[in-house]
Amino acid sequence: MKFLTVVGSGTMGRGIAYTAALADFQVCVQDVQAEALDKAKDYIEKEMRKSAERGFVDPGAVDRALANLSYTTSMEEAARNADIVIEAVFEQMELKINVFKALDEICPPHTVLATNTSTMSPTEIAAQTSRPDRCLAMHFFNPVHKMKLIEIVRGLDTSDETVAIAKQVGARLGKETVEVNEFPGFVTSRMNCLIGNEAMNMLMEGVASAADIDKAMKLGLNHPMGPLELADLVGLDSRLRNMEYLYQTLGEKYRPCPLLIKYVKAGRLGRKSGSGFYEYHQD
Ligand code: NAD
Repeated sequence: MKFLTVVGSGTMGRGIAYTAALADFQVCVQDVQAEALDKAKDYIEKEMRKSAERGFVDPGAVDRALANLSYTTSMEEAARNADIVIEAVFEQMELKINVFKALDEICPPHTVLATNTSTMSPTEIAAQTSRPDRCLAMHFFNPVHKMKLIEIVRGLDTSDETVAIAKQVGARLGKETVEVNEFPGFVTSRMNCLIGNEAMNMLMEGVASAADIDKAMKLGLNHPMGPLELADLVGLDSRLRNMEYLYQTLGEKYRPCPLLIKYVKAGRLGRKSGSGFYEYHQD
């Protein structure tokens, strides 16, 4: 495994690219927006140098890792030599299917196609390609370079060989993996969305302030982050798309909190927009 392609250079794509470049993959990052690629390149360079200064990354490895990275808006250029592609575009089924169809045309027959979807069916995405046996979900966590887990989600036709390749790639990226049979939301998103939605409902009902709900979960239940600060980190638009999918597939228990819908309509998307359940400043 030498060539790893990342499609979508947002929050998750740039994190996956950062981690893969340090693990000595030749990484090509593709996005439809040139501006998103510029931002991702800038983020990766700054974060890697900062991590080296703080002693988390070997300073000697930084230049080599940065040289492993290339960026393009051309899907053809990004995918034609890939051994594995990790797709991290928006959480929309139609968009993911279109990306997988294009990748299936461009990539060599051996290429494994992985989606970083948080909730959606890798079987449904894979069914639109000529290689459902070589498709699966690899669900990374945010921020990718810090979080230890990848959920490996097996679709209906995913082969044992493909699962084994995904586990090997995960190990090379320095991650632990768990194997999950496909069901909406897998293990983590299904659980996390429910906890986050309950916290939002409590905030809306006036049970406690955002800061006190988060503090209660951290100090009382030993969660490393509160559910509302975590939702702000994920992005409230992404969280709403996840909730909508779980609501459609799993039912009433997952109905998105009206406060979440209101915030997204207002453009309060969490950290990335400067405000969500909390306010964020550049410094
Ligand atoms: P994001 O909004 O930060 O980035 C998405 C990127 O995809 C954008 O840069 C956009 O320009 C690009 N894109 C859109 N259409 C494209 C196309 N056709 N081809 C190439 N690029 C395209 O999104 P994100 O938060 O990084 O989420 C990406 C995926 O990862 C989603 O499926 C999401 O559910 C999943 N995920 C997100 C998190 C999280 O915490 N944000 C965690 C785990 C998984």
